Parts: sequence; structure tokens; C-alpha cells
Amino acid sequence: MNPAADIPDINEAGIATTLEQNARPDAKRVRDALARASEMKGLHMDDVAVLATISDPDQLGELFATASRVKDTIYGRRLVLFAPLYISNLCGNECLYCAFRARNKEVVRRALTQEEIAREVQILEQQGHKRILMVAGEAYPDRGFQYVLDSIRTIYATRTDKGEIRRVNVNVAPLTLDEFRLLKEERIGTYQVFQETYHRQTYASVHLSGRKADFNWRVSAMGRALQCGINDVGIGVLFGLFDWRFEILAMLQHIRHLEKHFGFGPHTISVPRLEPATGSDIATHPPFAVSDVDFRKIVAILRLAVPYTGIIMSTRETARMRRETFALGVSQISAGSRTNPGGYAETSSEADSSQFSLGDHRDLDEVIRDVAGMGYIPSFCTGCYRLGRTGADFMDLAKPGDIKSHCDPNAVSTFTEYLLDFASPETRSIGTALVDKVIGEMQGVARERARKLVDQVRQGRRDVYC
Ligand code: SAM
Ligand code: SF4
Repeated sequence: MNPAADIPDINEAGIATTLEQNARPDAKRVRDALARASEMKGLHMDDVAVLATISDPDQLGELFATASRVKDTIYGRRLVLFAPLYISNLCGNECLYCAFRARNKEVVRRALTQEEIAREVQILEQQGHKRILMVAGEAYPDRGFQYVLDSIRTIYATRTDKGEIRRVNVNVAPLTLDEFRLLKEERIGTYQVFQETYHRQTYASVHLSGRKADFNWRVSAMGRALQCGINDVGIGVLFGLFDWRFEILAMLQHIRHLEKHFGFGPHTISVPRLEPATGSDIATHPPFAVSDVDFRKIVAILRLAVPYTGIIMSTRETARMRRETFALGVSQISAGSRTNPGGYAETSSEADSSQFSLGDHRDLDEVIRDVAGMGYIPSFCTGCYRLGRTGADFMDLAKPGDIKSHCDPNAVSTFTEYLLDFASPETRSIGTALVDKVIGEMQGVARERARKLVDQVRQGRRDVYC
């Protein structure tokens, strides 16, 4: 079988039945589902459906506490940081929720030149970022798809005094096999594409034209990426378009499909909620708006359903919501983001060309100070993919929990780099105390590695990792 041609079977009728059959679980059924979740082996569809029904405050507390324990056991106190880099808002698709949609005249169109991209990267590097998520609409300027490849090269090639980008993740529309092969050669980190909604009828009603209107082309993208050796892939749902309960079960079917065909699932899951966007009614009035409490439930349930998959929380959410979801399962966050091409260099032009509005406007230093103040270790680690720990290799290490003896030392050493090279005095003082405390609490090999790496960084070495 050619896996690329294989379209994941999102069984809508099956999902409806699962939701219906588990719609009114008794207290024991909920307890049993939470007990299975505690084993950190993932969850079946039935258990996910059961957890999705929880509304009783005590059960909700139990759900959040279980997710918190699982998160802590697997990820410890690390939070990986990145910045999105919008290179272009040209787009041929008509996605009703997005300001970049082709027919929206209210947005100023722009594809950055390579020089402009380098300028944006310099600014991000000077803030201390090491990981970029490159984002574009689905229409490329003169050089076509080569524009995407050129832009990745520009990002990696752009260096400043103390700054460099060590991992470029990419969020661009689904590619052909040939294009995925070319993308792979550019040493990208994760390839991301969100299905937006797994519900076909809803999908058709919000994607009116352009290539993205083809549900199958999009849902089969991860299979093509994996077939071409891009081992780290990121999936997501745009919450607010359809019932979130359906979406998380459908996403689970997508994940199980990838696991069955490739031996491992996605590296990350993103959980964007619809935010207001210029020229979009649906973005301002989501048809299935997700409440804050349901949103926290989504994060907690995903943490339990796929314990070893990273969960990404963007600056679409407010600082408060972001804080609340760290404990529930989030492992990566963006910070200091702009969603308009050129937005880092030209801060005043944001209103006319951004994709959607943001909930968290704080700069990187402020986010880091806040996160560190809560006891989380901001990490800029890029060790895994540079040492080839991707796809199945990553999952093999992650599942027994070994990954912690790499991630924790790499987190404290890259955080120490940030503190020495970029942090404000206040952040440096909070961060340095945290690093010393965290190393003091580490055990065995992780502690030895962490001590060694942090000492090297404090003596002036950079980019050391294990
Ligand atoms: N154009 C490509 C695509 O659609 O796959 C890649 C990037 S698109 C700019 C990134 C993501 O932004 C989309 O997949 C969608 O989930 C999200 N997005 C679009 N409009 C949004 C809105 N109004 N609020 C929140 N997220 C939105
Ligand atoms: Fe274009 Fe992506 Fe926005 Fe759709 S979500 S209009 S494909 S940029």
C-alpha cells in the first residue's frame, strides 16, 4: 500500500455513536477512565468521550489533577519557547475565518523579500529566540515553492552577535511528495498543518475555494510528509468551527492512523481557538465557541489521550489562560508574537495585515520572567532533532521517560544562555536562582549532565547539548 495515497478514515458515524454511548457516564465510569489515564499509555475513544462529559466540579478537579500529574511526570517543569515568523500573507484560498483569505480586501498583501526576512530574524535573535515557526499563506510570489525553501535558508543563515536560529519549524499548506522531499533537505524541525475541522460538511462550508477546499488533500498531508522522511509533524484543530468533542475524537482517529501506518504519531498538537480576524464574521462569532473551561478540558484530555505528544499554546490566548494550561499539559508556547509579515521590524503597521488578533502581547523577557516565576524552566533546546532523535526514535526514548535526562539538562543550559545573553537584570536574577534550584533537585545522570552543560555555558561556551 502507498501510505501517501491513504486518506485517514475519519469515521463520523462511529464518533457520533461513541459520544452518544458515553454521554451519561456514572461516577465509577469516570473514575475508571481517569485511572486508565494515570497509566500514561494513552486513551481509547470511549474514555476520551467519557472525560469530555465532565462538568461536576469535583470530577473536573480530578481530571485537571490527573493531567497535571501526567504532564509533570513526562515533561517536568520545562516549557519550550518559539516565535512565529509570518513571511507572506498572499493566499489563494477562501477560508472564511482568516484575514488572509483571497477575497478579503481589508488586508494589505505582502510577501517579505529575503532581506526583509533576514531583518525579522535579526530582531528575533536579538530578543533571544532560537526556534522559529515559519508561516505563510497558500500562494507564493515569483519563485513559487522555491520561495519557501529560500526563506528557510535565509533564516538559518542569518546570524547576529549572540544570536542564531537553530530550529525552523514550518507551517505551510500541504505539499506534494516532491515538495516534501525538497523541504526535508532544508533541515526543518517540525512540519505543521492543522486540519481546522475534521467534520467534512463544516470543512466544506468554511473553505469555499482554492486548493484548501479539498478535505482529502489536507487530511492526507501528514502521510505524505512522513513518507518523505519528515519525521516530526504537527497537527491541530481550529476550535470554534465545530463541536470540540467531535474534533478531539476525530483527531485521535487521525493520530491512530499515523501510528498504524508509520509506527509513531505526531510530534505536536496545536490547539488554536478562533480569534477575531479582519474581514471575518465567523472569527468574531464562532459557530461552536469553546468556553474557557472547555478549553482547559481539551488540553487536559489531550494530555491524557496522547501523553507523549507535545501540546502547543500560542499567543492567541491570554496570559492568564496560558498560565492555567501549563500545568494541564502544554509543553510549548510562543512569545512576543506578531502575525503580520514584517511585524517585528515594523510594529506600527500591525492593524492592516495581521492574520488574527492576539491575546498575549507581552515581550519575550516578560513571558520568561512570568514563566520562571511560576517555577517553569523556559527551554530553547533544539537538541533532539539535531541529534536525530525524531519520529520513532524520539517516541522510543520518550515513552520510557528517558528523554527527561536529555531535555532537563538541555533546558537549563539553553535557559542559562538566554539569561546571560539577553535577559533583563530582573529576569536574570529570577532565572539564575531557578536554574540552581532545579539542578539541585535533579537526580543521577540528568543532574551530572545539567551541571556540566550549565558550567560550560557560564564559562562562555554556547550551543552545548546532550
Ligand atoms: N496557510 C496555511 C494553512 O492554512 O495551512 C498555513 C498557515 S495559516 C496562516 C495558520 C493557521 O492559522 C491556520 O491553520 C488556522 O488554524 C489558523 N487561523 C486562521 N485564522 C485564524 C483565526 N481567525 N483565529 C485563530 N487561528 C486562525
Ligand atoms: Fe490562507 Fe491559511 Fe488563511 Fe486559509 S488559513 S486563508 S490557507 S493563510
